[in-house]
Amino acid sequence: MAGDHAHRAEPRLEELVRDVPDFPTPGIVFKDITPLLADPRAMVEAVRAMADPWRGSNVDFVLGIEARGFILGAMVAVELGAGFVPARKPDKLPRETFSESYGLEYGHDAIEVHTDSMPAGSRTLIVDDVLATGGTAAAAARLVGACGAELVGFEFLMELTFLEGRSRLGRTPTHAVIAYGPAKDAA
Ligand code: AMP
Repeated sequence: MAGDHAHRAEPRLEELVRDVPDFPTPGIVFKDITPLLADPRAMVEAVRAMADPWRGSNVDFVLGIEARGFILGAMVAVELGAGFVPARKPDKLPRETFSESYGLEYGHDAIEVHTDSMPAGSRTLIVDDVLATGGTAAAAARLVGACGAELVGFEFLMELTFLEGRSRLGRTPTHAVIAYGPAKDAA
């Protein structure tokens, strides 16, 4: 029913994401999810909404991208009955790693996984908080491939659709709970 949302006591997920202009660099509107994480009911709602599209997909591992992808990804993994694999920033993992570098909406970085983190043929879902340009998620997909695992899909809490990150993710199924369209002043 159309009125349901308006009459709910809890704030909607979007209301618990704070826009922080010019962070970490001028021109970037940072999507701060800490208010959402601090709200237990919103967290359950968000994690279920992220897990729902994949419940029948036999996911063996959720690959979460450091650092907010760890928080959301680990909860999605529990929800799906899957294991969790952390994709970490360089030189954090103690054993042999695969590494992939990528360009960010702001800056440049790399992520790494242990070479034995996802056995060949296992099925992996990639999870992060924001899909922006798609460079980070594409690098995560290359890590899944390097391990010989199968990429089931990409799941994001938020997608900045105007950056067209999906175009870098190929035909792999991709879902985001909240989509943000063109910047207000550009609309
Ligand atoms: P990208 O590789 O451009 O898709 O950027 C995605 C990664 O950068 C994710 O790990 C996000 O956490 C982070 N990120 C990019 N843009 C934003 C933003 N506007 N607000 C918060 N995080 C962002």
